[in-house]
Amino acid sequence: MAFLELNVLNNPQDPIIGIDLGTTNSLAAIFRDGRPHILRPHQQDSRIPSVIHFPKSGNPIVGRAAREHAYSHPGTNLFSVKRFMGRGLADVKGDLAEVPFPVSETEHGLLQFDIHGKTYTPQELSALILMRVHDVACQQLDGIMPQRVVITVPAYFDDAQRQATRDAAKLAGLDVVRIINEPTAASLAYGLDQKKDGTVAVYDLGGGTFDVSILSIEEGVFRVLATSGDTHLGGDDLDRTLVEVALEELRPQVGELAEDPAFQQGLRLAAEKCKIELSRAPEADFHFVVPERNLTWHKHVSREEFEALVAPLIERTLDACRRAMADAGLHNDAIDEIVLVGGSTRVPAVQRRVEEFFGKKPHTELNPDEVVAMGAAVQGHILAGGTRDILLMDVTPLSLGLETMGGATAKIILRNSPIPCQQTEGFTTYADNQTGVDFHIVQGERELAADCRSLGKMKLSGIPPMPAGMARVMVRFQLDANGVLIVTAKEESTGTQASIEVQPMHGLTDDQVEEMLQASFDHAREDFDASLLANLKTEIGTMVRATAAHMDDARDRLDPETVADLDEAIAAAQRAADGETDVKVVQRARDELERATLPLAALLMDGVAKQALTGKSLDEV
Ligand code: ADP
Ligand code: MG
Repeated sequence: MAFLELNVLNNPQDPIIGIDLGTTNSLAAIFRDGRPHILRPHQQDSRIPSVIHFPKSGNPIVGRAAREHAYSHPGTNLFSVKRFMGRGLADVKGDLAEVPFPVSETEHGLLQFDIHGKTYTPQELSALILMRVHDVACQQLDGIMPQRVVITVPAYFDDAQRQATRDAAKLAGLDVVRIINEPTAASLAYGLDQKKDGTVAVYDLGGGTFDVSILSIEEGVFRVLATSGDTHLGGDDLDRTLVEVALEELRPQVGELAEDPAFQQGLRLAAEKCKIELSRAPEADFHFVVPERNLTWHKHVSREEFEALVAPLIERTLDACRRAMADAGLHNDAIDEIVLVGGSTRVPAVQRRVEEFFGKKPHTELNPDEVVAMGAAVQGHILAGGTRDILLMDVTPLSLGLETMGGATAKIILRNSPIPCQQTEGFTTYADNQTGVDFHIVQGERELAADCRSLGKMKLSGIPPMPAGMARVMVRFQLDANGVLIVTAKEESTGTQASIEVQPMHGLTDDQVEEMLQASFDHAREDFDASLLANLKTEIGTMVRATAAHMDDARDRLDPETVADLDEAIAAAQRAADGETDVKVVQRARDELERATLPLAALLMDGVAKQALTGKSLDEV
């Protein structure tokens, strides 16, 4: 008689997934091996944009792909569906201005959108997002497809809004075990339910909304004491301050193009990119290019300038905090723990002002845009009958990354990431017909590889000869629960791969880690310049090669003046890349080169040249 193997021990119950159904982004997590794990789409950012694109024919598209259509096909996308959940026409008048489709009300008072001749309720639209999030989650779960979910909603959601969320899940074929409040979920992710009692402030600044909630913990149970916020204040408004700066300079130059939806969308994305960079670096390049219009525009924005622009917005969030505290009948010093939630709390000025306001350091250890989904997974685990004994998560104290062309570092696993974890990034080749790549794995926060701790080197050979920038090498960093790091590099077209195993913390004392962190603060400014210089020079090299590769073909199709201008810009850029040490001069040469290549880029709009002009490159063997 054969034995039937039952894997009872590893999966004692039917797991329950936690889902953060957000206004801007949605994502799922599951509790496993003692902690919540985000179920991220393969090799991608964990956040799934809550955006639906409706092609004229065919099925709606949800997520990242849909958001890209916002640029090429404005007017066929739905954003911020969450705002319409459980609401009637009269409640959402202001928000309808952003909706490119006709809206009416059913006889039951439900909203409905008329999209290419079909009607959809907000519940049906949210169901599309939930299905996408659930699909992506299940892809990461090797065959199991849990249908039971915990979904989070804002603390201020009323019964109709909560019911609409349940209905959306039902339409998506999911079984909602519980709806929980977002601030409660965030507190659960930090294990605050393990405290006997206390008071928690949850500050949630997302893409388009701001919520603050004051919670009390009594014997591990959360109670909402007060909520406040602004349903139209978020990261989009921070972006808008930068868009305004750009428009002021651009308007005279572009005329009525400034009103074009695709132009506006492109500018918004450029502003968001600059903002995100400023959360990491003391200054950033606000960079906007419309090759079709021969338009290129740059501005250096320092963190101080950005902070001055957004200060009034941050103050508005603090006004709401003040109201919530008054409603709860508490003084600021009564708050024991502050939890930051939402992607926009990555802005350093936000963290600083919140800390000043409450007089206490807020929790920032977990990713603010993942913490709600993580907490939902914790709740799911508890509801599935699981227990929680591991409270504190192990995190990696220093970032792990790779040396890139020119000696800068690309950080792959960021410091304070909970372990185990893995992260994948794509790289490309720097030179034509480059058949091998050297990988240098480094640890630390400094911007130049030479200032980081070297962990090991490996070589990937056997890349088929192709033009620079065309090869796709995916590099995966896997850090297991024991702190062992496995780095694997794989060339996509042939599947050739190489891998190395290192122990990042081997031989490092806590004091040394502390010293390394301190050094990164002490050298922040010079490191930033050095890495900018290295990256600019690499970029110039890549641009010069890409241009040269296309010039033979294009020389006859461009007018002589353009060609002369381009030749001159190439020579100047090359001079700057060879010997110049002043960042500003090199930046100017790069900008000049970019401007001069625009006519060529417009000629080659097939995408190939553009691809070669972007992408991080790794040194050749
Ligand atoms: P929501 O809860 O509204 O769905 P999220 O919590 O995902 O939204 O927050 C999305 C917002 O966070 C966007 O405005 C995005 O630009 C912003 N954001 C994401 N990362 C950063 C960053 N590093 N610095 C500043 N803002 C960021
Ligand atoms: Mg959110």
